[in-house]
Amino acid sequence: MKINKSLSSMPAGYLFAEIAKRVKEFSAAHPDAHILRLGIGDVTRPLVPAVVDEMIAAAKEMGTPEGFRGYGPDFGYDFLVSAIIEKDYIARGVSLSKEEVFISDGAKSDVGNLQELFAADAKIAVTDPVYPVYVDSNAMAGRLGKFENGKWSNLCYLPCNAENGFVPDLPSEKVDVIYLCYPNNPTGTVLNKDQLKKFVDWALENEALIVYDAAYKAFITEEDVPQSIYEIEGAKKCAMECCSFSKTAGFTGTRCAYTIVPKELIFDGVSLNRIWGRRQATKFNGVSYPIQRAAAAIYTDEGHAQIMESIAYYLENARIIREGLEKAGIQVYGGVNAPYIWMKTPDGMGSWEFFDLLLNKAHVVGTPGEGFGPSGEGYFRLTAFNTRENTIAAVERILKVL
Ligand code: PLP
Repeated sequence: MKINKSLSSMPAGYLFAEIAKRVKEFSAAHPDAHILRLGIGDVTRPLVPAVVDEMIAAAKEMGTPEGFRGYGPDFGYDFLVSAIIEKDYIARGVSLSKEEVFISDGAKSDVGNLQELFAADAKIAVTDPVYPVYVDSNAMAGRLGKFENGKWSNLCYLPCNAENGFVPDLPSEKVDVIYLCYPNNPTGTVLNKDQLKKFVDWALENEALIVYDAAYKAFITEEDVPQSIYEIEGAKKCAMECCSFSKTAGFTGTRCAYTIVPKELIFDGVSLNRIWGRRQATKFNGVSYPIQRAAAAIYTDEGHAQIMESIAYYLENARIIREGLEKAGIQVYGGVNAPYIWMKTPDGMGSWEFFDLLLNKAHVVGTPGEGFGPSGEGYFRLTAFNTRENTIAAVERILKVL
């Protein structure tokens, strides 16, 4: 069997493995240290009651002759698709038809899989730092060339840093696809409508596709920040949008998401909606009925109020981290419309050097920015996914060290 060399020669996904290794070594040497983890971007609050009740009710239904269901519709149950369209889109002035919504088991699968729509030689652009799945999934398909000195030779990097206010420049070369994630992981920063419009206009002019990852849209607090790229005129002709219940409703372990593929998306005379449907129907058998019912529960008044309480809790943690660090004179970004706080490391420290300092002196774990791409060097990510007590304690400890 001839192996996929693009996959077998991938650099090791070392970031979280390296963090785990360093934490393990530290714990072994300091068994009494109480380590506070503000590193990995996983939710910590339980599923809300409205979601749990609906999941139980749907599971019980499945145990009756009348309520039992086998394979569901390929692209999701109508009750969930309709709720998404009404509450996430029509409420924001965006109309969509039911055939434009594809329910899935995660935004990670969708953003990883959708590169199957692109030609083998399609040119890709990503913001830098970046959620690694966009890069790795294209590298595995052989599109990115060689990995040398921390960079892929055939990938267009759009740096985001304090100097450009974390607003990437438009690509200066011809690219076929741009991945944008807003609110951003890892920086926690956003694009306002005018800033996003520049990308939409560029994509339309250059016949490029935007893959818009809106996994953190539930955290948006500011009016001028779009929750969907389709709030920008023309976006239906140039953008797919991936959304998830993971961070919106604590579904990281429950698994449900959706991707919007408008019918107006036509490239090379081919409808992306048609070929994404073809791909999904062949390779994916849908999300289970109880989970889709649980997801739909967040669109009821009761469910919505409950999830927004959790979001508000995380955003308050983010505020505590942001304001605490600012008091210590640290440059801090994000954390207003996102659960991530992106800080500049003090005194020009390397991001792994700062990681070691915080672990050893404050017993706090964060994520070195360099792990998200070359432009992440000199930055550090902290997350608001924790208890209030741990968040306050972590900030106090960090301030002491600083
Ligand atoms: N997109 C971004 C930007 C993320 O940060 C994450 C998870 O951390 C995902 C997608 C994955 O979402 P899901 O849990 O729906 O697979």
